[in-house]
Amino acid sequence: MTVIAHLIDGEPHNGTGASLDVTNPSTGEVIRQVACADAATVERAVAAAKAAYPAWRDTPPAKRAQVMYRFKQLLEDNAERLTYLVSEEHGKTLEDAAGELRRGIENVEYACGVPELLKGEYSHNVGPSIDAWSNFQPLGVVAGITPFNFPAMVPLWMYPMAIACGNTFVLKPSERDPGSALAIAELLQEAGLPKGVINVVHGSREAVDALIDSPDVKALSFVGSTPVAESIYTRGAANGKRVQALGGAKNHAVVLPDADIENAANTLMGAAYGSCGERCMAISVAVCVGDETADQLIASLEPKIAALKIGPGTQKGLDMGPLITAEQREKVLGYIEDGVKSGAKLVADGRGLSVAGHEGGFFVGGCLFDAVTSEMRIYREEIFGPVLCVVRVESLDAAIALINAHEYGNGTCLFTRDGEAARRFADSIEVGMVGINVPLPVPVAYHSFGGWKRSLFGDLHAYGPDAVRFYTRRKAISQRWPSSFETTHAEFHFPSGGQ
Ligand code: NAD
Repeated sequence: MTVIAHLIDGEPHNGTGASLDVTNPSTGEVIRQVACADAATVERAVAAAKAAYPAWRDTPPAKRAQVMYRFKQLLEDNAERLTYLVSEEHGKTLEDAAGELRRGIENVEYACGVPELLKGEYSHNVGPSIDAWSNFQPLGVVAGITPFNFPAMVPLWMYPMAIACGNTFVLKPSERDPGSALAIAELLQEAGLPKGVINVVHGSREAVDALIDSPDVKALSFVGSTPVAESIYTRGAANGKRVQALGGAKNHAVVLPDADIENAANTLMGAAYGSCGERCMAISVAVCVGDETADQLIASLEPKIAALKIGPGTQKGLDMGPLITAEQREKVLGYIEDGVKSGAKLVADGRGLSVAGHEGGFFVGGCLFDAVTSEMRIYREEIFGPVLCVVRVESLDAAIALINAHEYGNGTCLFTRDGEAARRFADSIEVGMVGINVPLPVPVAYHSFGGWKRSLFGDLHAYGPDAVRFYTRRKAISQRWPSSFETTHAEFHFPSGGQ
């Protein structure tokens, strides 16, 4: 059986750790294995990145950008193969995988502009014969740890910009679907990147621990669940590293009585059930203002849920594939059971779904709960499955208060025709990414992505302009070139403006 190797110093490397199974979630069958990095393997990757750093740091930004241009082209040339790989290992539909790859490529396109993005700030003549400027210098070796649910896109949020800024990189993708992350990094190597600038180590906790504890890793970008994000942020910061750690979510869509209910229901279908609900921006709660709004929305959603086309991700024309693992399926089924027991009304029940020819796949059909309250676990916790909860409230203010009281603050959305309500919602909601009649407000690559509260630990968001700041440190330089006839004498006061 094929073993997915690490990529260290430009070469495939099996490392010295054990290996893990990679399963096709649409069939439940093991399709390949992945090498698991132990501490010695991680050390080797970090050493390769450290050795490659000085020459890469000194490579002019415009030359670094040239590699990104070639990388973008290679990604587009290989899109079909990469899309298939994502779909096969993750289970999401081919169309969804293609969308993920496209959003990833947009980050490479943004990184192509790095000479412009790294332009510093300059002040002439701040004192007699003194000029001052600030520039942005890379950090050194940077590491990225990524989740299973966007195996191609989330790594591309990180290393194109980190590398374009002059850093070298060690990526630790999810061990559950590592194939596309490796294939994409190999394309970057093929684009002309010097060996050691991008390295990939697979595995799970042992590999991550080694990256957090390595004194040569200067910064960590993490995307995954909140408990792991919090612990990586705390440990990484205690080790003196710069850390950004993006965590989990519970995203609410508020539906006002004046909304176009049919449009809201159509777009909510994709936002709640697309990728089987395994998106950190998935809408998992519909907050309906007024009973009539809730009744209308549910009436519109019910037949659409019943009509969902569910099957193996790699089959064309489907709406939804399976969940990632058998454990995740059990977890989601456990939440559904818990919701029923706690008194929520299960309007659409996706349990017991069997897909002909794929009986071993980890499928759950679309589920819809009504009469959900804020005390219930299905409301409070991230389920990460195809489960949408309807909460009924009496006013927009009650909806805002509900959302602001939740521990997560990743994304949210409001459906309305009322501009004043939309403005009030956008101003007062304590969530990092807000949509008005846009259920998945994932920022484009030239803005930055990040939640608030327990959805993000750290100061800077992912990709976009924040990534340039995260992957560089500012240096302020004051330089004096006195003319030959200027005389100097000792001054003991603190230099002030105008010197
Ligand atoms: P996860 O936290 O289980 O794993 C993420 C990464 O951390 C993986 O590479 C994994 O190998 C590693 N890891 C797992 N347990 C670890 C541990 N104890 N110590 C160190 N490393 C560990 O997350 P997942 O299940 O792969 O992804 C789903 C989660 O990610 C969801 O909570 C989702 O909301 C979140 N997510 C958030 C965003 C965002 O931008 N906020 C984006 C995508 C996914």
